[in-house]
Amino acid sequence: MYDILVVGSGGAGLSSAIEAKENGAKVAIVCKHYPTNSQTTMAQGGINAALGNIKDDSTTLHTQDTIKSAHSLCDENKVEYMCDMAPRIIEKLENIGVPFSRIDNAPTPLKSIAQRFMGGASVPRACYAQDYTGLKILHTLYDRALQLGIEIIDEHYLLNLIVEDSICLGATFLDIATTQVKSIYAKSTIIATGGYAGIYEGYSTNAYGAVGDGIVSVINAGGSVSDMELVQFHPTALANSSILVSESARGEGGYLLNSDNERFVDELKPRDEVARAIYAQLQNNKSVYLDIRHLGEQKLQELLPQEIALCKLHEDIDPVNELIPIKPVAHYSMGGVEVDEAQRVVGIQGCFSAGECSNSKVHGANRLGGNSLLEILVFGTKASSEALKYIKNISDIKPNDTQEKQDKSYIDSLFEPKDSINIYALKKQLGEILYTQAGILRDEDGLQEAHNKISAIYQQLSNASLQDNSKVHNQYLVEFLELKNALVCASLLIQGAIKRQESRGAHYRSDYPQEASSFQHSIIQNKKDSLCK
Ligand SMILES: Cc1cc2nc3c(=O)[nH]c(=O)nc-3n(C[C@H](O)[C@H](O)[C@H](O)COP(=O)(O)OP(=O)(O)OC[C@H]3O[C@@H](n4cnc5c(N)ncnc54)[C@H](O)[C@@H]3O)c2cc1C
Repeated sequence: MYDILVVGSGGAGLSSAIEAKENGAKVAIVCKHYPTNSQTTMAQGGINAALGNIKDDSTTLHTQDTIKSAHSLCDENKVEYMCDMAPRIIEKLENIGVPFSRIDNAPTPLKSIAQRFMGGASVPRACYAQDYTGLKILHTLYDRALQLGIEIIDEHYLLNLIVEDSICLGATFLDIATTQVKSIYAKSTIIATGGYAGIYEGYSTNAYGAVGDGIVSVINAGGSVSDMELVQFHPTALANSSILVSESARGEGGYLLNSDNERFVDELKPRDEVARAIYAQLQNNKSVYLDIRHLGEQKLQELLPQEIALCKLHEDIDPVNELIPIKPVAHYSMGGVEVDEAQRVVGIQGCFSAGECSNSKVHGANRLGGNSLLEILVFGTKASSEALKYIKNISDIKPNDTQEKQDKSYIDSLFEPKDSINIYALKKQLGEILYTQAGILRDEDGLQEAHNKISAIYQQLSNASLQDNSKVHNQYLVEFLELKNALVCASLLIQGAIKRQESRGAHYRSDYPQEASSFQHSIIQNKKDSLCK
């Protein structure tokens, strides 16, 4: 039995586990892939902090920029806490060895950290390591976790939380290598499983597994979710592959051009506005391009080497000499697990949540670039320090294998012969439905129709068996379970979008184009609103 069980090895999970271990707790991290495989490694542009290096910047200005972008849907106290913590987080990262990009002739190492512009920021505030910021942070945190001897259990897929009388006792997992269902017991559990923007299959910058598994486990266990309809669309993904071209490309001076060679929007406006402006051009049968040629090869190789490599690898475009064809795609989920000010999951005692899977209410209706890496580290650490306080009053827990038995029986049932389905075609269908009917522009009719289609796919899945009956490393089984969770999240997203009869930040309803003060609150949903009721 562990003091703290952390599910997820992204930035939120690793920072939670490090905080727990440094304070003497018995902690384990469980993740579904290899420990370094997460969205955090994909983050390119930077992490925001008012370090005092940039003239006129301050934690107050960082707070103000964040609140402005949130469109009145954030918890201002939490935003202030996050922005105040930011310089300390960067100092901590600096101390454990994150190789930030530097400026010359600075008096101290902290003052030498280079910072760049990101959309919606009043000043250059994003600290970066070329355009590999997330990768460098994640690998450094992972090194620190190894150094501390934190136990890491990889290739284990979270199935359900084990909850008795609304108290969380740990979670059940599918051991991917053996297809066995196992319980892991803990005095407290931190869900740090990342976001759900990957459900827009084919129209997302996210990795395949970013489908909201942890969110669904919370819903199933009696917790709730909020603001699921608030999904951010990133303005610049590669037109064919949906691979991200970081905002730092515009932050460093890149332009957006349409096929008439015209600039049509201020490139550094918040993401929702830039994404809608690009979408309008595309709807008008114009192509849209990112132009960074004028920055010159030397600067591009120094500041944006990953962008150059990704353009060449995925689209055969050389941005040094060619325009980059782009489109906006789903990128980040602002909504997620409903947590209180201490990252406690509302409705489930002993369960905490941090990172993109939680709705920490710091981004509101539109996240600022560079604020997510900050959020996951600030609130990953916070969730852990709150879990440490919680376990002080728990002497022991009694194992309860009811959930394990139920999950084992469900997994066994999937191996029995039933209807045959093609989950890859269904995933693709899900992405198309979401992008066209619950995407950048939404309306009541489209959302209702999308919900009917998604419920029908969920029904198909409920009567289906697996196409691969192997009991060893059955990736099909994992993807089947992921699709089921993706559909649950999709349904909650659409229902939230139907309920929010207004436009706010990333949520744009063409039938309700104005912000309405009556919707200046979170939309909360729970199991009875979900497909798994
Ligand atoms: C391409 C890209 C670029 C980005 N660039 C930036 C940027 O420059 N600046 C910025 O601030 N933000 C950026 N973001 C956003 C940011 O990277 C993410 O919001 C953040 O890293 C999420 O961290 P996390 O720890 O919450 O989740 P993740 O890093 O996604 O980690 C989730 C973890 O949970 C595990 N997990 C998931 N499901 C299960 C399950 N069923 N069982 C067990 N384990 C599970 C995963 O294996 C993984 O270990 C970017 C995102 C993307 C996709």
